[in-house]
Amino acid sequence: MSVTEVFTAAYGAEPAGLWAAPGRVNLIGEHTDYNDGFVLPFALPQRTVAAVGPSPDGRWHVCSTLINEPVSFGKPARSEVTGWGAYVAGVVWALQEAGFEVPPVRIAIDSDVPLGSGLSSSAALESAVLTALVDLGGLDLPVEKRPAIAQRAENVYVGAPTGIMDQSASIRCQDGKALFLDCRSYEVEQIPFDLAAEGLAILVINSNAPHQHVDGEYGARRKSCEEAAALLGVPALRDVATADLPAALDRLGDDVLVRRTRHIVTENQRVLDTVALLRDGRVREIGPLLTASHASMRDDFEITVAQVDVAVEAALDAGAYGARMTGGGFGGCVLALIDADRADATAAAVAAAYEKHGFTAPASWVAVAGPGATRI
Ligand code: ADP
Ligand code: MG
Repeated sequence: MSVTEVFTAAYGAEPAGLWAAPGRVNLIGEHTDYNDGFVLPFALPQRTVAAVGPSPDGRWHVCSTLINEPVSFGKPARSEVTGWGAYVAGVVWALQEAGFEVPPVRIAIDSDVPLGSGLSSSAALESAVLTALVDLGGLDLPVEKRPAIAQRAENVYVGAPTGIMDQSASIRCQDGKALFLDCRSYEVEQIPFDLAAEGLAILVINSNAPHQHVDGEYGARRKSCEEAAALLGVPALRDVATADLPAALDRLGDDVLVRRTRHIVTENQRVLDTVALLRDGRVREIGPLLTASHASMRDDFEITVAQVDVAVEAALDAGAYGARMTGGGFGGCVLALIDADRADATAAAVAAAYEKHGFTAPASWVAVAGPGATRI
């Protein structure tokens, strides 16, 4: 059934329109967003589609093809709706908090973004709904201000302490481009990312590792970064220059804070170096930066699990130019930069390594940079 048919079956009317917002992979720059740093995501072809139309009873109604649990709510008070509907109620709430008159609507959601795999299905859902509400309500909310509203929905209403990257990627990415985002100023630069022209591809490997303790560990990393910044007397770890890192680490002393800080500062530098290479068209050369990013996440930030480490090793052994976990960690996906004609061989090598370790089989596909949120 198409999402239009789902809408019609649920509400007995035609939707006013369809809006889509993509999931994302982050090429490099992990956990840097909430440190006011740099990230470089691109939008996936996989996306969440919202069929949306006016709601005659003045309440909001939402259903999803993926979760058989329709949700209805009136003007949402903070965190009143729980479960998956909170991502939608949170967007309505955050828009109202920002002073907007939000039109009551009925929504049917469909998506091919895998849920909970670190490809940001949550931001795709928020961004599709937000874009629809802005269009249908004629809200005066420029694109560059939309991610912070969706982030507020997730941070304050849902209660997940995530940074600005996911919503920025889902809303602001462009076809064939990677989004170089400064998470302090929200300034962006669209970086050409046409891998096919270079005979290259990004293989995304879903580790299918069970997500465990994600929210608690994420919150703990965030707290360590804030603690380190406070001890160093800077607003955020973004303000520690690469050249000043050794002295900063000496001042911190504490082993855990040293390693967390080293990850953030070196990772910001790797994003800048990656952007510089891409601007120069030296795409293959970003490989070692991706692999170094993975080592930093594994050893210093400690956010990887055995499944993603094995996938990275197997992809590199199969000839990838570079590979790293992408997303918040503790499971999720790995990306590998490979020759375009090596996709099947690399996927097979990772699958074989998983079998040897007795892990649940991974899923792999080639990801091409797609467009951000839009009416379709
Ligand atoms: P990720 O963003 O990495 O996919 P999250 O845990 O942040 O993982 O978000 C996943 C949650 O978002 C799901 O458990 C569900 O509550 C909600 N969600 C995302 N997409 C959909 C969808 N299409 N239908 C219903 N709920 C969804
Ligand atoms: Mg998410």
